[in-house]
Amino acid sequence: MNKRVVVLGAGYGGLVAALKLAKGTPAGSVDITLVNKYDYHQLVTQLYEPAAAAKRDTEVRIPLKKLLAGKPIRFVQDVVTKIDPKEKVVTLEGGELSYDYLVVALGSETEYFGIPGMKEYGMTLKSVDEARLIRTHIERCFAEYPLDPRPELLTFVVGGAGLTGIELVGEIADWLPRLCEESNIPREQVTLYNVEAMPSILPGFEPDLVAKAEEVLKAKGVIFKVGSPIVQVEPGAVHLKDGGVIQSRTIIWTGGVRGNQIVVDAGFETEPRGRAKVNEYLQAVGYDDVYMAGDCCFVLNEQGRPYPPTAQLAIQMGNSVAHNLAADLQGRPKTPFVPKILGTVASLGGRDAVGKVGNNYKASGRVAYFIKDLSQIRYLAKIGALMK
Ligand SMILES: Cc1cc2nc3c(=O)[nH]c(=O)nc-3n(C[C@H](O)[C@H](O)[C@H](O)COP(=O)(O)OP(=O)(O)OC[C@H]3O[C@@H](n4cnc5c(N)ncnc54)[C@H](O)[C@@H]3O)c2cc1C
Repeated sequence: MNKRVVVLGAGYGGLVAALKLAKGTPAGSVDITLVNKYDYHQLVTQLYEPAAAAKRDTEVRIPLKKLLAGKPIRFVQDVVTKIDPKEKVVTLEGGELSYDYLVVALGSETEYFGIPGMKEYGMTLKSVDEARLIRTHIERCFAEYPLDPRPELLTFVVGGAGLTGIELVGEIADWLPRLCEESNIPREQVTLYNVEAMPSILPGFEPDLVAKAEEVLKAKGVIFKVGSPIVQVEPGAVHLKDGGVIQSRTIIWTGGVRGNQIVVDAGFETEPRGRAKVNEYLQAVGYDDVYMAGDCCFVLNEQGRPYPPTAQLAIQMGNSVAHNLAADLQGRPKTPFVPKILGTVASLGGRDAVGKVGNNYKASGRVAYFIKDLSQIRYLAKIGALMK
């Protein structure tokens, strides 16, 4: 009987792992099943664009039917509810799957840091559906305002100034003039805040790039509140640690990620933020038949700190997992995973961006935007999304 490989999650890590495994193993030698709750692959790194009406939802949602066409991969659209690594069984809402090898690539969940009201009243940006919710919510605030002119309807707060928060706030800032024009509302009546607990935006970016990003976003009207933790959220109000209160009907929380609870509940060894510990081959501690890829696990950098969770890392992990799993199946030696961080670019809205490529090259403006776009095109080509 063929070995059964079950891949959980068709995001960056899981999709790449499944596609590469299908390519790297002789036809008919392994049964690959890919499980995902949606029937599409989400371009999560671009979600800030549909959230701010800069792209249509269909541009960041690629049907898995298209990506898996002609590939020896069985797709199951279902929700994973439990993993039992001792029994080698995965429970789905609609049934069960047994496996010989498992790849867990279920991504991350939002970390609310226990801020009262944030989960209840904040919005998050982790899926195409959530991007649509943010977009329609903002449009609704603009639609309501002329009938009920309360300032909190036109006050928008993005919590968190990491990559996601900055990219989102930049894109919203670009959208506001169009919204104002359509609703016949003066731009001065709209306020857009970016609130960050840490002393600086874009942690991990070099100071000159941070300064550039701040300058560009301030010129677009973004008001930064850095070193200013949010301590509570109520309907219509965001409370800050310094006692300040922002009256707003909109708080979008991008301030933290943690591992996937299913991974924690399965009993895999995890760090306090719920990300699984893996060995050099990306196998879960104590389970040689379980590989992990992406945000649901972590690897350490040279300073002994976890690499930040990125699509770039998830894709590289997906590749490595496929390579090592094929090696297991074919009785070859495995290769340790060594991340190659090629740089990070943050979009600032429109065709503006800042970032670092390789170890030395810093870019801003259109050049940085072009680099980001190029890496996106390379990824789309890799997963076969550019084919008709
Ligand atoms: C707005 C935004 C911008 C970002 N920008 C960048 C960037 O510029 N560069 C960068 O490198 N990174 C960026 N990131 C981070 C990057 O998107 C993540 O690190 C990456 O998506 C992680 O890939 P993954 O495969 O681990 O998880 P995901 O891509 O989240 O995939 C997980 C998959 O699992 C599925 N799934 C989850 N739970 C279940 C379940 N219970 N049952 C079935 N299926 C399930 C999901 O539907 C999804 O398809 C950004 C993130 C956001 C939110």
